[in-house]
Amino acid sequence: MSDLINREEAIKAIMDIPDGNWTSEKYADAIKELPTAERTGKWIFNLKGSLSNMRIVGLCNKCGEHGFPQMKYCPSCGARMKGEVK
Ligand SMILES: [Zn+2]
Repeated sequence: MSDLINREEAIKAIMDIPDGNWTSEKYADAIKELPTAERTGKWIFNLKGSLSNMRIVGLCNKCGEHGFPQMKYCPSCGARMKGEVK
């Protein structure tokens, strides 16, 4: 499974390897120790439409775009959705 990592943190981790100690294994170890940068969000439920044609939509709390509350990922920003804002 692939993980998302923060580019700036990865560069810093590599640059922090002491001079003269640069090996492929040191690079790999530095990157393996980075925390993942998974983006998570929550749906803000919202009613949309007229009284005769009401439906529930979700607004992503990360990007503010619409999606459907049953979606596990925001179609706009890709955040993994973990429930709803209460
Ligand atoms: Zn989003």
